[in-house]
Amino acid sequence: MSATGDGRPIGVLGLQGDFEAHRRAFEEIGVPARVVRFAGELAAISGLVIPGGESTTLIKLMLDVGFIEPLRLFHAEGRPLFGTCAGAILLAAKVTNPDQFSLGLIDIDIERNAYGRQVESFETARGRVEEPLDSSPFGLPGDSMDLVLIRAPRIRRYGPQVRVLVRHVPASGDPEPVLVRQGNVLAGTFHPELGPERRIHGYFARMARLDAVAA
Ligand code: GLN
Repeated sequence: MSATGDGRPIGVLGLQGDFEAHRRAFEEIGVPARVVRFAGELAAISGLVIPGGESTTLIKLMLDVGFIEPLRLFHAEGRPLFGTCAGAILLAAKVTNPDQFSLGLIDIDIERNAYGRQVESFETARGRVEEPLDSSPFGLPGDSMDLVLIRAPRIRRYGPQVRVLVRHVPASGDPEPVLVRQGNVLAGTFHPELGPERRIHGYFARMARLDAVAA
């Protein structure tokens, strides 16, 4: 295991949802990661994952523990954020179905629970990698990727600064963005921590300037 750059571990917000699966996913690729629950712990981490779960509950808990303003500051300092599912909802510019508070740290509009009944629970779908990502072995354009969708949101609009890294390829209809990046903010509507997929965790570790041994 090696850690370069600032050498601090990745943090995974542990207020609600499947944070432990994210921490294990980093551990599996040799990236130090720790669960954080208090704003005071942000100084000790290089980047923060906001996991999937239930976004309304997550916001309430973040407000309760005073995490919102410190998180804005963390972002303003240029440190990377990765929101998955409920975490992506939290980072979006605008949330619908229903409307709710969000941080507006990535220029996307996102609709909650947007697949209807068929994706009420765990479902695997096919994704397509859209660009070769920096120096990371994230994947080459056209590579496929299994996507785990759980009561997943859909990205309904993205701004010109937003790069689409992975699209969902539905059985019919147009491919839709499911992993997007703007600056140091990464947002995905699926759950890369569930199942064997680890390329995205390796990619985020690189955003946070850590070396993953087997990304
Ligand atoms: N449906 C949840 C929400 O709207 C997100 C689901 C998830 O994170 N898997 O907050």
